[in-house]
Amino acid sequence: METFSLSPSGMETFSDCQRRFFYEKVLRLDDATSIYMTVGTVFHEVMHRTVAPGMGRDEVIAAVTSPEVATVIDEEVEEAMRDAGPWLRDLTRAYLSNMIERVAALEREREGEYRVESVERDGRMDEAGVLIKGRLDRIDRVDGIGAVVIDYKSSQSSVKKTASIQRERIEAEGGRGNWQVPLYAAMAAAAGVPPSSFVYYVVPPGEEAFATGLQLEPGRLKPPIPLGRKGAYRYESISPDSIRAALVEAFDVHAAVAEGRHEFQRTEDRESCRRCRFAIVCRRANE
Ligand code: SF4
Repeated sequence: METFSLSPSGMETFSDCQRRFFYEKVLRLDDATSIYMTVGTVFHEVMHRTVAPGMGRDEVIAAVTSPEVATVIDEEVEEAMRDAGPWLRDLTRAYLSNMIERVAALEREREGEYRVESVERDGRMDEAGVLIKGRLDRIDRVDGIGAVVIDYKSSQSSVKKTASIQRERIEAEGGRGNWQVPLYAAMAAAAGVPPSSFVYYVVPPGEEAFATGLQLEPGRLKPPIPLGRKGAYRYESISPDSIRAALVEAFDVHAAVAEGRHEFQRTEDRESCRRCRFAIVCRRANE
């Protein structure tokens, strides 16, 4: 039997509702798919095929603005949406073209020179009996900064969730403030690429795109993206101790789940229950 593992997305589910985490990640009940999940999956595939390790800034911009991207989108949409009607495939193509254009705009706004080190790399950290797994969308080497982990956020809820990347929330709430930064940083470090910075590219279909992130190293480094305006758009620095504390919290969750000690409380947020596919089995459907 495979050892129980945590993932950044699983821990996001844990923060939203521990009971839903139990259904999805412990019982492994089938994942439901939606058009937005499909768009997200196809977007990652298109980026994977378009941006390659070794590319520098100009090459990345040339790749994402190349006419060949349309062909890649067509092929990936056909592959992922065989059973969908033509209008849904057309809508998905339109979403993806728009999202890739926004990636190009974010690349142009980046600060400094960089080179892509890896794309869609399997991440894994195995420490003190705790196994964390996930996919590292991209790691760049940025002049004067070091390794920058980039995570593409493409779901409709990205804007709301990305607001939680802010330093104060991680410092005040630990992992509940954001699990992805500490877990991806730990996996990158375990792969021999300790990151100096973590950045989200937020490109939700049909909504404004932006980049936001945190410097993970102490000291004053150049920012890899513009410093931003406010709230979710900011780039700022966080202490390594705060990141480590959130990681230790994830270790505690892993131990409690793996040892059968966790009670998986239902969330108090009834709005989440209204959208939850487990509402009936969870006995929240009629409450
Ligand atoms: S119905 Fe509500 S409490 Fe139950 S799993 Fe879903 S979100 Fe959690």
